[in-house]
Amino acid sequence: MSDMDRTDEVARAKCGAPDSVWWRPYSYEALPGGDILIKGAAWRPKLSGKHKGQPMWPKPLQHHITVVVTKAETEQRRDEYEAETGFCSNCNHKGEVSTGWSRDGGTRWGKCKRCGGTGEAR
Ligand SMILES: [Zn+2]
Repeated sequence: MSDMDRTDEVARAKCGAPDSVWWRPYSYEALPGGDILIKGAAWRPKLSGKHKGQPMWPKPLQHHITVVVTKAETEQRRDEYEAETGFCSNCNHKGEVSTGWSRDGGTRWGKCKRCGGTGEAR
């Protein structure tokens, strides 16, 4: 789970959405200080076509909510994860993280800086 996923979790908790089945963010805006302004709405998956399974948002939007998730809230969620699992929250116990992607080489991996490659929470 990435920090982005954790931010989503905090956003859903704040707006009373129990999970990502019916509500998810569709827009992220970074605010000064590391806070994130999130807009989300009820969605449903596309049932056919090239983008089958991808979310689509009905118009007009339903359960349209704007919420600010602070950096501290995301960090708290991350600390809880590390306390619960003992795993490094940055690499999720893999010891390495994706550092980029190219069409030819695919995903590039590098040693996780947070845990130094051990995968353990500090
Ligand atoms: Zn790590």
